[in-house]
Amino acid sequence: MDRQGFDELKTTGRLPSPSGVAMRIMELCREEEAPLADMEYVLRADPALSGRLIKFANSALMGGHRPVASAVDAIRLLGLNTVRQLALGFSLLSENRTGLCHGFDYAGFWSRSLATAIAANALCLRTRTAPPDEAFTCGLLANVGRLALASLYPDQYAEIVSDGAPDLGVALLRERSLMGTDHVEMTAALLDAWQIPGIFVSAIVYHEEPHKSEYPEASRESTLCHLLNLAAMIGTYCGVDERQRKTMLSDLIFGGARVGLDAESLSLLTDQVVSDWREWGRVLDVPTSDVPRFQHMMQSLDEPAVKVVVEAATEVSRVNAANAAAVAVGRAGETLRILLVDDNATTLAVLSRILSQQGHEVSIALDGEEALRVAMRDRPQMIISDWIMPRMDGISLCRSLRDTEEGRQMYFLLLTALEEEERLVEAFEAGVDDYVTKPVSARLLTARLRAGMRVIRLQEEAERDSQSLRRFATELAVVNRRLRQAALTDPLTGLPNRRYAMERLEQEWAAYSRNQRAFSVMMIDIDRFKAVNDAYGHETGDQALRQVASILRKAARSEDVICRLGGEEFLVISPDTLAPAAMRLADRLRQSVCNAPISLGTLRHTLSISIGVAQLGPAMVSFDQLLKAADDVLYHAKRLGGNRVKSPGMGVSERPAGPDS
Ligand code: GH3
Ligand code: MG
Ligand code: MG
Repeated sequence: MDRQGFDELKTTGRLPSPSGVAMRIMELCREEEAPLADMEYVLRADPALSGRLIKFANSALMGGHRPVASAVDAIRLLGLNTVRQLALGFSLLSENRTGLCHGFDYAGFWSRSLATAIAANALCLRTRTAPPDEAFTCGLLANVGRLALASLYPDQYAEIVSDGAPDLGVALLRERSLMGTDHVEMTAALLDAWQIPGIFVSAIVYHEEPHKSEYPEASRESTLCHLLNLAAMIGTYCGVDERQRKTMLSDLIFGGARVGLDAESLSLLTDQVVSDWREWGRVLDVPTSDVPRFQHMMQSLDEPAVKVVVEAATEVSRVNAANAAAVAVGRAGETLRILLVDDNATTLAVLSRILSQQGHEVSIALDGEEALRVAMRDRPQMIISDWIMPRMDGISLCRSLRDTEEGRQMYFLLLTALEEEERLVEAFEAGVDDYVTKPVSARLLTARLRAGMRVIRLQEEAERDSQSLRRFATELAVVNRRLRQAALTDPLTGLPNRRYAMERLEQEWAAYSRNQRAFSVMMIDIDRFKAVNDAYGHETGDQALRQVASILRKAARSEDVICRLGGEEFLVISPDTLAPAAMRLADRLRQSVCNAPISLGTLRHTLSISIGVAQLGPAMVSFDQLLKAADDVLYHAKRLGGNRVKSPGMGVSERPAGPDS
């Protein structure tokens, strides 16, 4: 189906689609800067979805950690990618529990999809082929094209369902002849539209028939494809009756072998999947059923048959593992930078030829001292060194390397003569990773290289992980800072809010108690503001509030803290300021407001403010008293008609300089 065809289908409004809340979450998750506060706000509209995200974060599917209690913590733990996909998956499930297609078993569809999702998650936790939480959504949506066909073409799809379960190829042909498209194509188009990563889409497209894909052996696509195939098999296994389950056993065991699981591990994994499936079925309101333990099912088959299957599967998994390793070694990206050290030129020549032929990048040194220099210059990933050499021997070389930051990362393979074997303990204590005895056989060397390469790769992965952890921690710090800032800011005016005002007063109070640093406060209230709202509406009132806030900010000094306490009331905190200076400042604020025309919609108008000023007095025991004093004089100013500044004791009452109120 081409882009245009799909877009046309979209306009029918009958394609499965996530809820409004889920869409909004998905959009937010795509934004570069994690808008956690927004997300929390959006999620409030869908408590069920928040609950499920929290539940997911706390479940065994995420592999154990300190439990989270809030949606925001869950989002932090899961990461935006996973949240986006879970919001999609969970919401599709909730929105498509039933539909128009009579023949289609909607509940059964979601039940099987859920089991597949959990199996995909469990398999990825074990094999580390892909992030387990992402695999969960892929499992859940691997067959979403079937659901889409049922929604788009209820009558035609009912016919397909009534065909029973023919061979996949036949079914696809039937779908295409009746509806012009098939469920695999539909799945791919939908997943693309929802921006599921391409690698998953590629794997999902062939997951029903992995052998038909042309993905290179042991490539990520191929591994993931087989893994989803097995997950789907486990999903089906959960949903069918006992008799069908029995017929699936050998396929399952082979499927397990294909991804490196022996029968025993597969049995444990399947039982775990069943138990998680039943639990999640309750959470998501999806039907599940009782499934006997895998071991028990195997025992119900006759003994010799099981043995044959298990043995064959073991062989398959061994061959696969060997293939995968061979492919890994042969892959261009997987060659190493190796430093070869030996005082014997012939050994150097022979070994460096073997290594170069395998695609490795080889440099050489004739003794330990030279090797040390070259190692620091070339940063090899692996060092293959002779033991006995003039000037600096292999063990001293290894010790010297281990003393440096870079040297500690290098994999050290020691070449030993037979008679040196009993001194190997000394070598390992010096930090050697492995050894090969001389004369060196090419096969043995290759095998040891492979082992070393695995270690190096793991090390590099760990290094990358810790880098991404560091990056994540920094991002988190930024997000936290932003969250805190948002919590202390008034969204309408951008001024600090009441919470900030109180925190700040507390600090000023503490500074005053410690070293007698005086400060003043002003309570500001806009005069007759209610009339503005009544005449022009609340929205215009909001604009006016924003303008007054900005006038105040501009007229004040930079050290004055202007906060919006709420409504049309503001508080100014003026550090190191005594009452006379505060009065002068207050009057400047008053004048600025009544001199500046405020736009109210298309009209321009002037507003006025009244201000109560109070200075910290020696009799005061808390800042509440200071606020109370300012409030009292403000009230007084209002009683006198507004547009004036008052302070206790100083009976100053300014008459308006600008237009009268
Ligand atoms: P006074 O001169 O006595 O201060 O009269 P007033 O109308 O300003 O005083 P009052 O406290 O009775 O009313 C304040 C009004 O401010 C009430 C409400 O309509 C308006 N108001 C409070 N908060 C907001 C807001 O966030 N936006 C808008 N547009 N109006 C608000
Ligand atoms: Mg008021
Ligand atoms: Mg007012």
